[in-house]
Amino acid sequence: MPRFWNPTIDALTPYTPGEQPKVANLVKLNTNESPYPPAPGVLDAIHAATDDALRLYPDPNATPLKQALADYYRLSTDQVFVGNGSDEVLAHAFLGLLKHEVPLRFPDISYSFYPVYCGLYGIAPQKILLDPTLAIDPDDYQGDSGPIIFPNPNAPTGRLLTLDQITRILQQNPSHVVVVDEAYIDFGGESATQLIARYPNLLVTQTFSKSRALAGLRLGMAFGQAHLIEALERVKNSFNSYPVDRLAMAAGIASLQEEAYFAESCRKVMATRQALTEFLQEKGFDVVPSHANFVFARHPEHSASELAQQLRDRAIIVRYFDKPRIDQYLRISIGSEEENRRLCDALSEILG
Ligand SMILES: *Cc1c(COP(=O)(O)O)cnc(C)c1O
Repeated sequence: MPRFWNPTIDALTPYTPGEQPKVANLVKLNTNESPYPPAPGVLDAIHAATDDALRLYPDPNATPLKQALADYYRLSTDQVFVGNGSDEVLAHAFLGLLKHEVPLRFPDISYSFYPVYCGLYGIAPQKILLDPTLAIDPDDYQGDSGPIIFPNPNAPTGRLLTLDQITRILQQNPSHVVVVDEAYIDFGGESATQLIARYPNLLVTQTFSKSRALAGLRLGMAFGQAHLIEALERVKNSFNSYPVDRLAMAAGIASLQEEAYFAESCRKVMATRQALTEFLQEKGFDVVPSHANFVFARHPEHSASELAQQLRDRAIIVRYFDKPRIDQYLRISIGSEEENRRLCDALSEILG
C-alpha cells in the first residue's frame, strides 16, 4: 500500500522528546522542567482570562505581551517576537533566517532539535566540534562562511559563553545571522539581549518553559533588531496567525510581573545545582561546570546507561544520550530539594 509521504518527510528523523511517564511518586529529572510551580499570579491571570472571551481569536500580534517583554528587556516592541514555545520560534528562524545556500554551523554536541529542523527545511548542517572540555571555542566560528546557532548555556553540557566570547563570534561573522538560544540563561548567565543594539546579525531566543515553570503553556520568544523580527513575522503569518492563545498571553504578562518569585525560584535551582555538583564530585563523578538547570556528569568506573537504568529501577528518571562522545554522560535536571535528596540517596546506594 502506498504511504503517500513526500520524500522529505520520508527521509526525516524527527526529534524524540524526553519521556513523560505517568508513574506515581516518580522523580522526573529528564526534561529540565522547573521543580517549582508557576508563580501564583500566573495561575490567577489564567483563571481571570478563562471567560466568554475565549470564543474570540486572540490578538494575532500579541501586542500586550510583546510590550511587557520589551519593557522587561529594555527593547522596543518591533524587536520582540513571540510564539508557541521557543521550538516554534526556532523553527521560524531556521526557515526565515538560517536557510541559505551555505551550511548552518552549530556545535556537534548541542540541542538535538537543530539537525531535525535542518532536515525539515533542507538546510545543510555543519557541525563544529566542542573542545576537549566540551566548551564552545569562539575561534572555531571564524570566517563569516554561513549562519550560526548555539545554545548559551549550551545543552546538554551546561557550559556558558561570556558576552565577550559571543561578541567575538558576532564580529567575526558580520554577514550572517547568529542565533543565541538562551533557554537556560536565567540560571546564572548574562543575556545577549544587551548586544542587540550593536549587532544587526544577532537573534536571541528564550522560553517561559524552564526558569518560568510554564513548559505546559508553550510560550517562547525571540529578540533582535526589527529587520530580523520582521522575517520571523513573515514566516509566522504564512503558517499560523494565532500561535499565542489568550491564556498564554495573560500568563506570560503575569509571569514577567512576578519578579521576586522568579528570582527566588532561580536562586533555589542554582543552590541545589551547587549541592548536587559537590555530591557528585565526592562520589567520583566528573561534572561539567553548569550554568543551567541540569548537570552533565560521567563516572569513570560506571557506565552511564547502567546508572540510568539503576536509577530508573528506583523511580528516578534522568536523560541518557546514546550518542558518540557523550554516551558516558548523564544529564540530570535539577529537582526540588526533596527530589535531590532522593537522587543522592539512590546514587549512594548504587555506588556503595
Ligand atoms: C527546552 C529547550 C528549548 C525549547 O523550549 P520550548 O520553549 O519549551 O519549546 C529550546 N532550546 C533549548 C536548548 C532547550 O533546551
